[in-house]
Amino acid sequence: MHRTFARPLLRRSRIVASALTASRALLLILALSVSAAPDVHAQDYVQVVPVPGAVRTRITVVNTLLGATIGGARAWIKHRPIRRGVALGALGGLTTAGARQVVATRRDGAGIFGRMLHDVGLGLGSAASDSLLTVPFHVGPLVARWTPSTRTWPSVRVNLTNLVYAGVAIARIDGRVDWRSTLWSGAVTVLPGVNVSPDYPQAEPGTISLTDVSSLCGVSPSGASICRVDLAHESIHVLQLDMMHEWVGKDIEAALLRRLPGGRGISRWVELGGIGPGTLALIEFRRPYHTRWHEYEAFWLTEGAGAPP
Ligand SMILES: [Zn+2]
Repeated sequence: MHRTFARPLLRRSRIVASALTASRALLLILALSVSAAPDVHAQDYVQVVPVPGAVRTRITVVNTLLGATIGGARAWIKHRPIRRGVALGALGGLTTAGARQVVATRRDGAGIFGRMLHDVGLGLGSAASDSLLTVPFHVGPLVARWTPSTRTWPSVRVNLTNLVYAGVAIARIDGRVDWRSTLWSGAVTVLPGVNVSPDYPQAEPGTISLTDVSSLCGVSPSGASICRVDLAHESIHVLQLDMMHEWVGKDIEAALLRRLPGGRGISRWVELGGIGPGTLALIEFRRPYHTRWHEYEAFWLTEGAGAPP
């Protein structure tokens, strides 16, 4: 009897049921995210560029294919069914593409809800090589991991790399944490201090540094001193770095930690978090800025089209 592989996958697997449970938690987070929204509105911005449908399609297709490829590879490495891995990876990639558009579409960044939705996509992609769905929730330097089907509380760990970058961002620009933006974006968002302002906004693992001037995206008619269009662009980078940690670095780091004396105990509280973002840097930072894929995605999603400058 001929059967498509998708139907038994959906029927048998608890993964889809778990994703629905996770989506209920997302609704709660959406409510929190909206209630914590910074005191700005889309009409505060001079420059609002619609993103063409062709750009959205391209980004959706690329992320779905990327998810399928990584999902297939993860399944192959862990000796799991490859077609299932490809299907879950594609579903995860599709979800991340949608989440990145949520973050980018509201010009000031749609915040923590987008990041959590992105996390559900990352969990689906990771399930390509596991039997259960575990959804990560990244907030600042913390990551909670929740496996809905086991009916247990999420485990919470510190991501060391994200923690270090948040500290460095604050120290480097003599900055202060913008708590409203941090609560809203889910990434530690740092504003420059009195004397120092970086030349351009910047994203690092779990961290966003904003500039004090809005020269990159126009001046807000309401006189807001922060260019929050940058928050959307840098939020896309934070999501890309989350993806590298979840799909590339996390399992390698866990295997390394297990081999160290005392590593098992440490891994109950800590994730290293450096290999994934480091891999992205290795791939991207050798090439000139205007040819980097991750910049293309951030510019396309927040400014419509065109190559990075
Ligand atoms: Zn960028």
